[in-house]
Amino acid sequence: MDQPIIRIRDLQKSFGRLTVIDGLDLDIAKGEKLALIGPSGSGKTTILRILMTLEDISGGRIEVCGEPLFHMSRNGTEEPANDAHLHRMRRHIGMVFQHFNLFPHKTVLQNITLAPVLTQGATRADADRRGRDLLDMVGLADKADHMPSQLSGGQKQRVAIARALALQPQIMLFDEVTSALDPELVEEVLEVMHRLARETDMTMLLVTHEMGFAHDFADRVLFFDKGRIVEQGPPDQIFTAPQEDRTKSFLRKII
Ligand code: ADP
Repeated sequence: MDQPIIRIRDLQKSFGRLTVIDGLDLDIAKGEKLALIGPSGSGKTTILRILMTLEDISGGRIEVCGEPLFHMSRNGTEEPANDAHLHRMRRHIGMVFQHFNLFPHKTVLQNITLAPVLTQGATRADADRRGRDLLDMVGLADKADHMPSQLSGGQKQRVAIARALALQPQIMLFDEVTSALDPELVEEVLEVMHRLARETDMTMLLVTHEMGFAHDFADRVLFFDKGRIVEQGPPDQIFTAPQEDRTKSFLRKII
């Protein structure tokens, strides 16, 4: 692998006395599509939240785009990252959550343009143009002036994806983005993510319970249990010929 876009070494994360991530090592190549699967509580969401700097870490090291995420160097020595460093590093990464988290009192287009204007100094005209392009891309060009409350769950989630993309991140994180949707709305969201995976060279990490989608979407599947990677490999290998007993028993239950 060339220089990985994300490099994780001996990552530790505890909440009080509960160890959630226990010595994780992981390299992710630029453009790679990764699916994280495993039982509830195995630490998958925590990894995404750490990468998004929504959680701090208890030990280890993470580099994103060749730079330490939680440390920075000053005067030749390393020290904990300050807010300016975290803010700069966050620009590499976008995240879509299970519960869309749209701003309820802003229109669909305003939801998408707010952050580029406020945090990246985009002009209103540029942000609007790009916002409309993104809405077109997620199939919601005609909803720009609607309020979130007028949309279905699947439409809200597609707006949330467009909003994350508006900041032009190199890495996108998707945390169980279809779990809160009615079954008939899941497909339209997965279709947008498929298109993103096919048509962009964005690095994408996905936590999902949709095993069929993980199979079709991912270059590599990681099976987590108790804060560790138990097994990883190409989807065909993990889903049709898993090696580890824990992977086998998880897949038997879920598929
Ligand atoms: P997964 O995504 O695999 O279901 P999570 O990463 O959400 O797992 O959670 C891993 C463990 O960490 C769970 O036991 C969960 O209860 C715990 N946990 C997550 N966030 C917090 C928090 N903010 N405070 C305390 N415990 C937490």
